[in-house]
Amino acid sequence: MGTEGCSTCSKTQAKKCTNCCKVSYCSQECQRTDWPKHRAICYPVSAQNVGQAGRGWVATRKIKMGELILRETATIALPEETGIWEAGEKIYRQVEKLTKTQQEEFYKLTRKKGLLEVSENLLEAAGDDEKKLEMAKTVARTIEETAIFFNNDIKTEDNCKCLFLKLALTNHSCAPNSSWTGGSKNPRQLELRAAKVISAGEEVTVNYIIVEARFSNKSARLRRLLDGWGFTCCCNLCDFNDEHSQLQMKEDNIKAEIVKTQQEMTQECDKNPALVNWRALCSLQKEILDLVSQLMSAQLLLFREYNSLVHLSQLARNETMLKQALEEWEELLKKLNVERAWKDFNICKDKLEEYSSMLKSKNPPKDEEIMQFLWLM
Ligand SMILES: [Zn+2]
Ligand SMILES: [Zn+2]
Ligand SMILES: [Zn+2]
Repeated sequence: MGTEGCSTCSKTQAKKCTNCCKVSYCSQECQRTDWPKHRAICYPVSAQNVGQAGRGWVATRKIKMGELILRETATIALPEETGIWEAGEKIYRQVEKLTKTQQEEFYKLTRKKGLLEVSENLLEAAGDDEKKLEMAKTVARTIEETAIFFNNDIKTEDNCKCLFLKLALTNHSCAPNSSWTGGSKNPRQLELRAAKVISAGEEVTVNYIIVEARFSNKSARLRRLLDGWGFTCCCNLCDFNDEHSQLQMKEDNIKAEIVKTQQEMTQECDKNPALVNWRALCSLQKEILDLVSQLMSAQLLLFREYNSLVHLSQLARNETMLKQALEEWEELLKKLNVERAWKDFNICKDKLEEYSSMLKSKNPPKDEEIMQFLWLM
């Protein structure tokens, strides 16, 4: 940023690259000449110091909802089941193979607190026991790489834990403005996309716990984040700030209401399938959907709620509700542009097609159909 003049020829009359706003060119020709070099950093965010969280991604221009921010392929990958102590050597070997620049980026990342200490304790506890000492030394040799990897890894859809050098810099917020998902062709390639309009200068954030803890209250969230990533969240929904307290209370109340409704649904589902009131379940799910749409990260949470509502509308034989939910779901998908989310939508549509005569029949669903569509989360 702040480049004056053309990046290629230094002429003073130059215009900023419209995609990233980080460099300027005097002509298309100069832009083309620089592209092989520039493409690696031509995205609308730059790594900057963002205070407490250390480095983070900050938008260099206004980013539209659904717009691609970054696309990145994993730099280091381990099978998900690899334990923290056996991982060291495997990580180390992969780090060794990286380019010098990549290694520099790697060692700039944050480390999992406590791991270095554990390693020292292992050495101490081993005492004269040769076998234990040998093991403790193995751990110590690669502890730094291990601590970096396990503080930044992302689970991918092919059941691996992966390190993405760029995405690792994306900080958490409980009310994020973007999200990352895997592509359908290569699960180890992730896309970071804006989930709302992001203004220039705003930090780009994702929710690290968006699936499992999406309706949990503040204290549960803070504990999860502290346990998993060793930081105390200070996003708008978490910090102790009078300015935000109203907002926090409203958000937590809605979430409590959602959890309560989900419990009612679970109770209904625990009944003998022949006795389940599908219409009641369907309207409870509609209530949840209306509640979720009032949350700050609604746009990222609504997919699965629509999916669930479509499924239950099918079982409840509610054609109107099904049609409406499907339309709204598709509308949202168009705005957010997430490839992975389209996949779920298409799977659902195929299933609806297959069972369309059942919907029209108005007969109560039998086990086989229930198995296909009963999907509570
Ligand atoms: Zn030039
Ligand atoms: Zn650019
Ligand atoms: Zn938070």
